[in-house]
Amino acid sequence: MTSSDNAILKSLNDAQRRAVTSKASTVAILAGPGSGKTHTLTSRVVWLIREVGYQPCDIIVATFTVKAAREMRERIGKLLGEDVEKKIVLGTFHSISRRYLSAYGKRIGLDSNFSIADDGDSKGIIKRICERHKLTVEPSYAKSWISKRKAKGSQPTTSQKGKKADHPDLLKGYEEYQEHLQRSNLLDYDDLLVKCVELLQKHSSCVSNVQSVLIDEYQDTNGIQYELMKLFAQKQGRITVVGDPDQSIYGWRSAEVRNLYRLLREFPGTDEVSLEENYRSSQSILDISLRVIQEDKRRYQKVLTPVHAKGARPVLRKLTSSSNEGEWIVSEIKRTMLMFGGMLKYEDVAILLRSAALSRHVESALGKAGISYRMIGGHKFYERKEIKVLIDYLRVVYQPENNDAVARIINVPRRGIGEATVKSLLAEAESEKMSVWTVILKHCRGDRKATTNIRAKMEQRLSSELMRIINGLQQKAADITASSSFSLVDLIEQLISQLNYKKYLEDEYANDHETRWANVREFVNLVSEYLQDSKNTEDDELPEVDEVEQSRQDTMLGKFLANVSLASDAQRGSGEQDQSSMITISTIHAAKGLEWPIVFVPSVYTGSMPHSRSEDIDEERRLLYVAMTRAQALLYLSCPLYGPQGFSNKVELSDFVAPFAEVAFASKGPSIDEPVIQTIGKILDRDPPQSKVIFEKLPPMTSVEDDRFPENPFDPKNSDEIGDARVPRGVKRQRTGPSENSKA
Ligand code: ATP
Ligand code: MG
Repeated sequence: MTSSDNAILKSLNDAQRRAVTSKASTVAILAGPGSGKTHTLTSRVVWLIREVGYQPCDIIVATFTVKAAREMRERIGKLLGEDVEKKIVLGTFHSISRRYLSAYGKRIGLDSNFSIADDGDSKGIIKRICERHKLTVEPSYAKSWISKRKAKGSQPTTSQKGKKADHPDLLKGYEEYQEHLQRSNLLDYDDLLVKCVELLQKHSSCVSNVQSVLIDEYQDTNGIQYELMKLFAQKQGRITVVGDPDQSIYGWRSAEVRNLYRLLREFPGTDEVSLEENYRSSQSILDISLRVIQEDKRRYQKVLTPVHAKGARPVLRKLTSSSNEGEWIVSEIKRTMLMFGGMLKYEDVAILLRSAALSRHVESALGKAGISYRMIGGHKFYERKEIKVLIDYLRVVYQPENNDAVARIINVPRRGIGEATVKSLLAEAESEKMSVWTVILKHCRGDRKATTNIRAKMEQRLSSELMRIINGLQQKAADITASSSFSLVDLIEQLISQLNYKKYLEDEYANDHETRWANVREFVNLVSEYLQDSKNTEDDELPEVDEVEQSRQDTMLGKFLANVSLASDAQRGSGEQDQSSMITISTIHAAKGLEWPIVFVPSVYTGSMPHSRSEDIDEERRLLYVAMTRAQALLYLSCPLYGPQGFSNKVELSDFVAPFAEVAFASKGPSIDEPVIQTIGKILDRDPPQSKVIFEKLPPMTSVEDDRFPENPFDPKNSDEIGDARVPRGVKRQRTGPSENSKA
């Protein structure tokens, strides 16, 4: 069989084929969105296994999101079979590092039972340190300061002698934070990478089997991820990276576009391949997206030409308020579904937001219309109070040294243990250099001299209840395996029942206990899905490597908790769970690398895009470019006249699109005619419905009309006074309470 006959290569163009089959030890594909970089990378993995003969377990593939990893697995599975796909070490940099650390971490003195401190946990710890030292910095600033340092690989003690430390207070805080993590046997996100670098530097034999390392979304790797990439490949040195500098959107997380140039410098002889055809989007969508990014005059120019025909003109719609915007999106979604008579479904639609906080109006409009949605990114389902409590219980069951988790659950449900008691327990643990749990145990057993009144309280309230629950669950948790009859779901059900959790939620949250209880049930569903999924992947296993003994495998509970901590894009459904009937709401960041037939990008105004708090205008532009280039067939941008704060918050259309808004976009809805339908059918590889049916069904344009409002809404002739504000006549004043997210 010649190469070109090969099934893997059939779906590729010449440049992609060259990249897939390249014999160079370093290959770099730098190309625009939708040019098939991920497709090519996946095909190269398949090629390396099938044609070059590498073992699947000797290949490492790093993706940027959990969702991207899942999609890549599915494709490889389809081409090579599940048994092969399962063995590839494929995931985000963080999840791959975690796997190496739980297998070999012992070699650098790590307890294999470590837990992961997610962003919320880290913030909590740092907040307490800042309070203790009366530091005037915001905890979130301190957190990102520490994180930046770690990303650059610098330790808290690296301030050289004689050199004035920048921010000595923070350096001290950093030191304490690290000590705290160590004592609680926790690693934060950055540590996962830092420790993995340390492991692979000291014990290169852990990766002696690795033949090839492949990285997607390379433009967003930071310094330490670059180090890791090199360390993974240290034995055979084979690296393939794919990326696009125009889509670098993680500057705030220390991603360094410079790594692109560093690679070319450090690996001379790198085979550079450029892909110049866009397979994803209609020509009009691509044209208008390129117009946005070309405003960045300093960017490295690349060719990107559409393979598809023009299609429908993208829409830019101006609306009065954010809630009008939400309603308009919903009515447009419904209209499109009818127009395309079954050719397009709800699952084809994504609403991409600059920040998760903007989702309130969209969610509320979808809720009113009864359209189900799922969320990716930004919305931390696992951080909801009612879910976090259950996870914290599980964390204590898994690892009682987790002081933070112990402190959070000690009085939930209420056990009459006040903050003062918790503080004195923490202080006692701190001064005796032991965990809070050990202190509690000692008090309960009466092994300690009765100090304060803690002992009596401990005996009465904790030994009877908390201890019983945790100890009971610990015994059960140890025996859970993938095939045991008592599963993780049973463990969680037992926890929920022992806490009398439904009753607790009813008592504690009179107004919304039903929603919270529904979330708890959703959590149990998620765990059950996780178990189903984990049967299909050997998520935690690493191949046996000569002479390197692996630590014992983690328990089911340990694996699950790590998965929770790393699932930054945990999905949450609402309403019925049939995926095909759900639209997606996502942050733009979490939508990276993905594509949908229909994309809405609301709130394209200055203050949101570019964001008022962002310092890097070019990165904000790239963010809009990433959002727009997710669309395959229909693209809708919108902008309200007033921002989320209501009528006192007049906003302007973003400068990223304003200069050509009038000429380039359609202002109402897309005009759909026969050629447009044919083009969309081709892009999506679907049969177009009979056009007759479509036009008969065509409903009138959206009922939410921007132009029913007067030119100048503040003219007393045209407006009413409500409270202290003047609003356009006929408009009810918006409620501006805290958003759903700020409550969660
Ligand atoms: P991004 O920069 O957004 O991550 P990308 O360059 O990774 O984009 P892919 O997601 O790999 O692009 O591909 C975009 C779409 O084009 C996918 O639907 C993919 O299946 C399709 N595609 C890629 N290459 C080809 C090809 N040679 N022929 C037909 N379709 C292709
Ligand atoms: Mg991609």
